[in-house]
Amino acid sequence: MKAAVVTGFDRPLQIQDVPVPDLAPGQLLVRTKMSGLCHTDIHAAHGDWPVKPTPPFIPGHEGVGVVEAVGDGVTGDWLGKRVAVPWLAAACGRCRYCLTGWETLCEHQLNTGYSVNGGYAEYVAAYERGVVEVPDGVSSLDAAPLTCAGVTTYKAIKVARVRPAERVAVFGIGGLGHLAVQYARIVGGLVTAVDIEPEKLELARQLGADHLVDAHAGNPVAEIQAVGGADVAIVLAATAKPFEQALRSLARGGRLVCVGLPAGGSIPVPIFDTVLGGKSIIGSIVGTRQDLAEVFALHAAGRTRVIAQTRKLDEVNACFEEILTGGVPARLVFEF
Ligand code: NAD
Ligand code: ZN
Ligand code: ZN
Repeated sequence: MKAAVVTGFDRPLQIQDVPVPDLAPGQLLVRTKMSGLCHTDIHAAHGDWPVKPTPPFIPGHEGVGVVEAVGDGVTGDWLGKRVAVPWLAAACGRCRYCLTGWETLCEHQLNTGYSVNGGYAEYVAAYERGVVEVPDGVSSLDAAPLTCAGVTTYKAIKVARVRPAERVAVFGIGGLGHLAVQYARIVGGLVTAVDIEPEKLELARQLGADHLVDAHAGNPVAEIQAVGGADVAIVLAATAKPFEQALRSLARGGRLVCVGLPAGGSIPVPIFDTVLGGKSIIGSIVGTRQDLAEVFALHAAGRTRVIAQTRKLDEVNACFEEILTGGVPARLVFEF
């Protein structure tokens, strides 16, 4: 099968012909139809984070496809079903996190496209206990970005406990951000979109953002504080600078939700201001299978729009470049 393979952190991906994966017990063989390109895949291929994947590996955790075979011990009726293969490949199902609805925090989890091979391939071996069925009302093209960008930002809005009429600042209107704007609106938030590219801000306006801030041309902290500060600031950029800006944009009682994962970087937290202002700093990592099912249900009901363009897998290195240099309308998705 054709796959895009990371062979080293300082090299471009290689398009290779590799064997179709053998199935371990509990796994499904999924024939990929669409596979989204998340910025995390770029971090993975570059070895940006403290915990690194081990080359050679196949990235991708927004794969959507049809189950063509099942391994030993699979109990569900999966053959022929269309499924999403998310970042959380499988969690242990037994620890205190798994048992309390926090499988995303499981210390024994496997991650698709990172610790196990992912969706930049014609086939992927997925765990029965990790996949989510895609409902008929959601196209495979839309389902792919929802599988990470969607579920991650939906969860971020949930953990921020956004209430109606609260001011929500979304920093970074890329693959994740264009969906965050929509989930913030669904729960009644008044949305400020912050980006450094005018095209991204225009997209945010079309998706219903109430207030736009160009962080390249102006000062987002001053502009957001001028209208009372943000009750919630969600940072979805892949660079460190907007995290500090987002913290300084908060109103009293404000919550900073950190979602972007830049290589390195830290946030200086002024203790006095945090204490007197009753501020919170929250980390949010993807979402559960139930969160993803809810994301699909909202999309099937017409509540969200996915902005994505298709590409061929052979173009993977050019696609990484396109994202790093800007100008991509939200998400790129490999079509098989
Ligand atoms: P993306 O490249 O599609 O979007 C990033 C956006 O940030 C772009 O629109 C870019 O113009 C904007 N941006 C850059 N600098 C900015 C600045 N100074 N101020 C405001 N906006 C700025 O990336 P993506 O796929 O949406 O992923 C974003 C980040 O989220 C990545 O670091 C990725 O690894 C991370 N991520 C985290 C999780 C999680 O569960 N926590 C899940 C998926 C992705
Ligand atoms: Zn992702
Ligand atoms: Zn667990």
